[in-house]
Amino acid sequence: MNQFTKLEEIKGVGEKTAALFASKDLYTAGDLIAYYPIGYDRYDAPVSLTEAKVWQVVTLSLFIIGKGSAARAGSRTINHFQAGDQTGKIRLSFFNMPYLRGTLAPGSRHLFRGLLKTTKTGLYYMEQPQIFTAEKYAAIQNTMQPRYSLKKGLKNQMLVKAVRQVLDKYAFPADYLDEKEREAYGLCEKSQAVRKIHFPLTEEDVRTARRRLIFDEFFSFILTVRRQKAEGQETVNLRPMQASPLAEDLIEKLPFRLTQGQKKAWEEIRGDLTGQRVMNRLLQGDVGSGKTILAFLALIMTSENKRQGALMAPTEVLAEQHMKALTEMAEKYALPIHPVLLTGSVKGRERKKIYGEIASGKADIIIGTHALFQEAVEYHDLGLVITDEQHRFGVRQREGLADKGGDVPVLVMSATPIPRTLAIILYGDLQISELRELPADRLPIRNLAMDQGQRDKALRFLYKQILQGRQVYVICPAVEAPDPEDIEDPSGILSQEGAGEMENVTDYSQMLREIFPPQIRIDSLHGRMKPADKAAAMEKFAAHETDILVSTTVIEVGINVPNATVMLVENAERFGLSQLHQIRGRVGRGRDQSYCIFLYAPGRDRPERLDILVKNNDGFTIAEEDLKMRGPGDIFGVRQSGDLGFVMADIYNDAGLMKAAAACVDKKLLKDPSYGAGIVKAVDFRTI
Ligand code: ADP
Ligand code: MG
Repeated sequence: MNQFTKLEEIKGVGEKTAALFASKDLYTAGDLIAYYPIGYDRYDAPVSLTEAKVWQVVTLSLFIIGKGSAARAGSRTINHFQAGDQTGKIRLSFFNMPYLRGTLAPGSRHLFRGLLKTTKTGLYYMEQPQIFTAEKYAAIQNTMQPRYSLKKGLKNQMLVKAVRQVLDKYAFPADYLDEKEREAYGLCEKSQAVRKIHFPLTEEDVRTARRRLIFDEFFSFILTVRRQKAEGQETVNLRPMQASPLAEDLIEKLPFRLTQGQKKAWEEIRGDLTGQRVMNRLLQGDVGSGKTILAFLALIMTSENKRQGALMAPTEVLAEQHMKALTEMAEKYALPIHPVLLTGSVKGRERKKIYGEIASGKADIIIGTHALFQEAVEYHDLGLVITDEQHRFGVRQREGLADKGGDVPVLVMSATPIPRTLAIILYGDLQISELRELPADRLPIRNLAMDQGQRDKALRFLYKQILQGRQVYVICPAVEAPDPEDIEDPSGILSQEGAGEMENVTDYSQMLREIFPPQIRIDSLHGRMKPADKAAAMEKFAAHETDILVSTTVIEVGINVPNATVMLVENAERFGLSQLHQIRGRVGRGRDQSYCIFLYAPGRDRPERLDILVKNNDGFTIAEEDLKMRGPGDIFGVRQSGDLGFVMADIYNDAGLMKAAAACVDKKLLKDPSYGAGIVKAVDFRTI
């Protein structure tokens, strides 16, 4: 068995299971072993209620007192049970699991594992604890069980079993680091790391495994960048472009003046396109700093040079927004361009027609998602590739793009503010342009962090803003109340924090509809909606047909609705610092005063990172603060999302490993300048 072995070939994985795996993009043995757990459940020895620590996950051995009671909350039924041990009493609550009344009979004894909480008056309670018999618990006591990210129908146990089977038979290729190198960097063998990350015995195992896997992620990223650069340097720009009167003219006509940063970046981009070397530039600019217009200028310049320019966005919604903005601009200023939109939702004849226009060269600006770089798309004469919100793309998508592009100039735009010192290690001296200031007409966003107990105040404020004609976003971490089917799973979705605890888009929208007058138009948006419905919800919001948009973080990238002035983030403690900054960036995009309210779960200390956000609006400062605040070794801490396509590595937490990996790449390249030339494109580095 190797990385290409199809999952269907594994014993016990039938068609149905394979389909479930596919829903998480798991097709091969290689995919599966690179599907790392999102956490581990430690099954410690049961403790008594007086020994147990509040706000920690504990296992209690309890007997049930009485028959329990049922209550309704919105669309959910909640079953409460009183339980106790020799030292105290506790209330246990379960959502939508009425059948538990059979299992949890009066006087029966079970083990319950979950987050122990107390009410303000000091009463113990637990929500959605896992339930075990004494024998079952004894079998797993003192182990660490992997917890994977799941989807409806895909159970943790299925993944555990499949991963075990694969690891039993997997033939790992020779480690690309020899023993001496591993010793020098303090790393374990790759195969060991993979085994330990799935099935560690101790936290030390997890630490060892992570160290190696993170090193590998950096190594492959840095090697890819260095290779691209090495190959790019050899390629002279054979077809430098001519200056573009059309673009320069547009700058004069725009309703705003470019900021200093925009002007400088435009000069740099223009210089690359007309220069001697093929462009490979990173445009970093904080949210709202105005990157899009620079992309448009470059695309227009490319079109005027009779070549094609492609702009790739990470989501359909964003691609559509770009298309709309460019089309409107083309009409307003009578620009002789012919842009087309190509996303996964464009189907059938329309898609064929667009393929045709791209192949014939009739379409000169092509905007879309990664559909732009699928095999069927043939370009007439591709002269520029721009990726927006670059950090959102996985390594694979980036590679697909490089394949199509060949020696085509590339501009990547990113709102992930990476401190320059780190950016240079990652990207080498890839050309970097930075937009450090926001357009002058912006008022700084006013920020507020409060606990969810003060939600009423926040909602009253939203209402006032809406009456003044403004629009509002509300962000919730979850789509809907947890599915009891998933929660029941012994080591599944029930997170350390208790899955019943976070606000969800479905119930929250309902709640708002109940408390606000009917003329307030409330809509929702989340990742499980069909692309067309998502786009429709966004369009309605952009057209001010919606006042409040309740959404998950799908909204986080790039959306631009300047009339939206309030961002309310529920369970802000669940999000990472830079993610919150990105979310906040959806407001403060127009002339009106904007506000961002972070609501965090009560009962715990206010997260320190919220204070950083409240005090700072500048992404670069936030990134640097973040770097200072984090200790090394915070292995189970919040990761700054999958920025740059890393699964596990975090450029802040793991800056040390990043430097080591960069040094290692450089050493290998020094010894053999062609190192990685074949591998980088052909092999997925996660599995070598
Ligand atoms: P981002 O960098 O986050 O992608 P956008 O390009 O979406 O930001 O720009 C945000 C908003 O700012 C848009 O409405 C855009 O038209 C506007 N904008 C861009 N540049 C300027 C400027 N120099 N002055 C005023 N508004 C600007
Ligand atoms: Mg943008």
